[in-house]
Amino acid sequence: MKIAIVGAGIGGLTAAALLQEQGHQVKIFEKNDAIREVGAGIGIGDNVIQKLHNHDLAKGIKNAGQNLTSMQTLDEHNKPLMTAHLKRDTLNVTLSRQTLISIIQSYVQQDSIYLKHGVTKIDNSNSKVILHFMEQESEAFDLCIGADGIHSIVREAIDSQSKVQYQGYTCFRGLVDDIHLDETDVAKEFWGKQGRVGIVPLIDNQAYWFIIINAKEKDVKYQSFGKPHLQARFNHYPNIVRQILDKQSETGIILNDIYDMKPLKSFVKERTILLGDAAHATTPNMGQGAGQAMEDAIVLANCLKSYDFNEALERYDKLRVNHTAKVIKKSRKIGKIAQYHNSLMIKCRNTMMKILPNKIASNQTKFLYKSKEK
Ligand SMILES: Cc1cc2nc3c(=O)[nH]c(=O)nc-3n(C[C@H](O)[C@H](O)[C@H](O)COP(=O)(O)OP(=O)(O)OC[C@H]3O[C@@H](n4cnc5c(N)ncnc54)[C@H](O)[C@@H]3O)c2cc1C
Repeated sequence: MKIAIVGAGIGGLTAAALLQEQGHQVKIFEKNDAIREVGAGIGIGDNVIQKLHNHDLAKGIKNAGQNLTSMQTLDEHNKPLMTAHLKRDTLNVTLSRQTLISIIQSYVQQDSIYLKHGVTKIDNSNSKVILHFMEQESEAFDLCIGADGIHSIVREAIDSQSKVQYQGYTCFRGLVDDIHLDETDVAKEFWGKQGRVGIVPLIDNQAYWFIIINAKEKDVKYQSFGKPHLQARFNHYPNIVRQILDKQSETGIILNDIYDMKPLKSFVKERTILLGDAAHATTPNMGQGAGQAMEDAIVLANCLKSYDFNEALERYDKLRVNHTAKVIKKSRKIGKIAQYHNSLMIKCRNTMMKILPNKIASNQTKFLYKSKEK
């Protein structure tokens, strides 16, 4: 089958790798002039790695990543609130985004990636789908996979009414070298009135961090925030937060407002399907956006291998729409609680978190394992 993939991000490249292995003729169209991941680090959960089974991609991710054993939430005075212990013998891996994308890309036929090919429109029908480009000639395909991220053009062909929704907070991110964390297998978040600070270990004494602050959408105040502003704002947070910000270069800080989407009713129309953020952009509170994009790709490839064309798309839709809707909703809920800024609500939340058994935190992700593979 002749397949077009729009977008060479984590989702699009995973789909390309798996579909090329099945012998499909796949072309990946990327609007940028290079494949690059914006952002610092990323976590890929065991729910994804298990779905890759013994594919080499799973080994590549495992070898380049730092395995976590727990995720701890503390208050701004370093007092533990809750710890989610990750099951023994599972792989919850953190790595730099660039490393992850390079690993995935290494499984894709390099001459099938077309850079500087921005897709402007698609004409979808039951017999074929035609892609139109910014500068190149249009081309017809049997299937178009929209993996073009949160502001997807392809999504318009499937649900022209869908809109992204700003969640009320903005996120700074960075990556530092030569940092010596006490525990290299524990990701930590410090929740306080000034915002939430996350510190995630990577291999080779690297770590990535994020700071999430309640803000208006496209708030100019924060757009001009640099390292000194963050240092001043979080100066009273635990030592490790100060150390990380000290190590951060002035120029390497990334800022993104955080959006998600009202879950779509379907990811499929005629000969076009969506995957990844294009289908189900979610807040980063569960660290599942890229993981779910990879799962979409795995499930799509499994379905195309196991069923005839129409059945495969139907099955993909059935398996992915409801599951990813749950991720969006749960992640949004966690974000709301984590971003409380009223002192009384913070106090009540923290008291509750200290009382509740840690098992509750560990159980939050159980449903991620329940989604079917084909
Ligand atoms: C602060 C933050 C932290 C996060 N942390 C995690 C985490 O720890 N774990 C996790 O799993 N997820 C995390 N995520 C989510 C994750 O980054 C995304 O879900 C994931 O990158 C989505 O991948 P994708 O391939 O669907 O889309 P994208 O990565 O957005 O890729 C889309 C690609 O399509 C290209 N494109 C767009 N439009 C066109 C067009 N018209 N024509 C051609 N090409 C086009 C883009 O240039 C891009 O290369 C986080 C997100 C944020 C904001």
